[in-house]
Amino acid sequence: MENSATATLIQPELFPETKRESEAVVGNPLPWETAASEDLLAAQVVVNRPIDKAFTYLVPDHLRADIQTGQRVRVPFGKGDRLLTGFCVSLGPVSKTGRDLKWVQSVVDELPLITPSMMDLTRWIADRYLCSWGQVLDGVVPTGVKQRAGTRLIRRFRIHPDTQARLEGVRLSAKQQAVLQVLQDRDEPLTLEEISASAHCSAGPVQALVKKNLVIALRERTHDFVPEPTAIERNDDLKLNDQQEVALRSIVDSLQAKQHQTFLLHGVTGSGKTEVYIQAIREVVGYGRQAIVLVPEISLTPQTVQRFQSRFDSVAVLHSHLSAAERHWHWQQIRRGAVNVIVGARSAVFAPAPHLGLIVIDEEHETSFKQDSTPRYHTREVARERARIEKIPLVLGSATPTLESWHRGQTRKDVVLSLPKRVEERAMPPVVVVDTRNDPQIERGDAIGRVLESGMRTALKDSGQVILFLNLRGFSPTLWCRACGVSAKCPHCDVTLTWHRDRNVALCHVCNYQTILRNCPECGHAGIRRLGSGTQRLEEEVRRKFKEHKILRMDSDSMRRHGSYSAALAAFRNGDVQILLGTQMIAKGLDFPNVTLVGVVDADTSLHQPDLRAAERTFQLISQVAGRTGRSHRGGRVFVQTSSPGEPAIAFAADHDYHGFARHEMQQRQAMHVPPFRHLARVILRSEDEAFVEAKAEEFAEIVKQTIQEESLAVWLLGPAPAPVAKVKDHYRYHFQLSASDPEEIVKLWRIAEDQLPKSSGFEYVIDVDPTNMR
Ligand code: ADP
Ligand code: ZN
Repeated sequence: MENSATATLIQPELFPETKRESEAVVGNPLPWETAASEDLLAAQVVVNRPIDKAFTYLVPDHLRADIQTGQRVRVPFGKGDRLLTGFCVSLGPVSKTGRDLKWVQSVVDELPLITPSMMDLTRWIADRYLCSWGQVLDGVVPTGVKQRAGTRLIRRFRIHPDTQARLEGVRLSAKQQAVLQVLQDRDEPLTLEEISASAHCSAGPVQALVKKNLVIALRERTHDFVPEPTAIERNDDLKLNDQQEVALRSIVDSLQAKQHQTFLLHGVTGSGKTEVYIQAIREVVGYGRQAIVLVPEISLTPQTVQRFQSRFDSVAVLHSHLSAAERHWHWQQIRRGAVNVIVGARSAVFAPAPHLGLIVIDEEHETSFKQDSTPRYHTREVARERARIEKIPLVLGSATPTLESWHRGQTRKDVVLSLPKRVEERAMPPVVVVDTRNDPQIERGDAIGRVLESGMRTALKDSGQVILFLNLRGFSPTLWCRACGVSAKCPHCDVTLTWHRDRNVALCHVCNYQTILRNCPECGHAGIRRLGSGTQRLEEEVRRKFKEHKILRMDSDSMRRHGSYSAALAAFRNGDVQILLGTQMIAKGLDFPNVTLVGVVDADTSLHQPDLRAAERTFQLISQVAGRTGRSHRGGRVFVQTSSPGEPAIAFAADHDYHGFARHEMQQRQAMHVPPFRHLARVILRSEDEAFVEAKAEEFAEIVKQTIQEESLAVWLLGPAPAPVAKVKDHYRYHFQLSASDPEEIVKLWRIAEDQLPKSSGFEYVIDVDPTNMR
């Protein structure tokens, strides 16, 4: 054996003793099962650093039995041999002798945190989103799981399977016999306390039996924290209508074929998409498998979550308010296969379900499915890859699919399932586009124009409820100096300050800087004017105009406390509140039959963003907000205030014409050479020194350009230029974009170019693949 010479060099005393005891940990192979091999075992370890490389460490003999792929280990790292925690991604014999390898210092986890299929998925993410495997692995396991929050190790005892044979010729005391009797009768591992109580003895006889190898001591992890079961009223599945039935059939066929297929369930708001997900999951649960349902944000979709809870046993709802202990408990339950349905936001795509049968992404167009920090994955693409690995269907649902998903449907990569009508033939609400350009009320500074106001009065008179949508929080978004004509900006960021009247401050929505701002920061003049309306000023205006009605504002300022959101929705549902106004917080999934009017106060805010998806977002927002009305026999209307009534995004949304909008927007995108026709990656550099970051951006771009040429890659470089938000928290930002029709080309380019980039201090950079945030 090539390795045996090296193997003799292993001196057990050279290695620090680990704290592990020799007792078997439930589920691990016993030491003598694996320790026989003479080979030198090595572990490939990745760490949470931006280096996409696995490091080889030797496994000392006393850890051989414990170490498994997917566990975390402690290893000495770098020149100073600082101990770091990394993931063991593979194990095998070392190929070369005499290598100067370091040793694994200890094994952290009792069981692997990462399953083999999750290994493949995380590796894919590192490649696709150009980060390191270690960063991804660290990111997919919840902190509470890594910390084993809310658990402790306890010791239990069970009788040795061979005890009868081993008892031959062994003399036992009466107490020892009593202990054996108890363990035999109960036939399950017992704690010392349980044994002592039944056998009326101290710890002594139990220890003696362990020494004699008649009783085995086990260490088990128990959860101190076990959540209370929530009592949710159970409902029966609905009888599907024909269009729902057709959609369900396709999904079930694919389930049975055990092949991956992505379905785009395109159904207008209220067309019964959720009911289709539920019945597809019913099928999956019937096979003893689990389903993952991904929603944009748990706290903003309480009604959807409740529907799942009312239909299935053991639903795990992974919301952002879970404590570390709760999260850990759910994770373990999911891994044991004890959970049928997992409902959560983006990170739930990594739920460790052992026999996954289906993944659903509801409202697939929502931007929250893209993670904004490393690993910068898009949940939809990760779900697609996981579904491919596990050979199961993925269902993407939306009334307003992203053009990326729509394009895949059009090019037959994915299957489009359509629910063109609302259930029970309810009409889509008529949408009135209101031109605000000559409205006298708007001209004098109101947010609500004449037409919208009279529409609200009519709806309220008929005892309907009203929703007003305005995607700007605060009181007024512009603080304008009439002397110098400049709008007040944050001193740390390249954005204007917003006046918040409740706190009496001018606030930066990027860095939270706040100032009282009596005088203009530019010229010192005292006459600052507050222009434009955010939700706070809108609230004031509505209170003034509709004195006799109860009004509620929902935005991230008014809904700070946990629970205030559901309390507010309850007040609206039971009719205590007649007018609900708020930011995009109220645009999603809400289903209130009594809402007969929806007002989009200013459709222009999202339209004029410097973003290739500005039109798409505007179309989506108007369609989603419009979907909050006309949900019962009472019907409903929508008013959209805009100063650009001819804008296609607004006109198509008013006609409920997704196909028309998609056709129009696809042409624009194709002409602009942007997604879905090309793939993008954005490189953003930042530094406190503006000239320095500009120079670095130029340097980066030059290296990228050269690599493109040398490797003959089909990638375009755009920029560098200052980012649209050119300063954030005192850091100047530059960016450039890479564009390619094949995303692999960008990956290839970056993997080569990245090694040549200058590594000096004083600046940082990130690469964002498939960016959705263009600021
Ligand atoms: P979507 O998810 O497309 O917005 P939902 O599944 O929430 O649509 O359905 C909208 C409303 O119609 C809900 O109140 C739901 O209970 C009801 N509904 C859905 N499917 C049916 C059906 N087959 N028969 C009767 N009502 C239905
Ligand atoms: Zn700021």
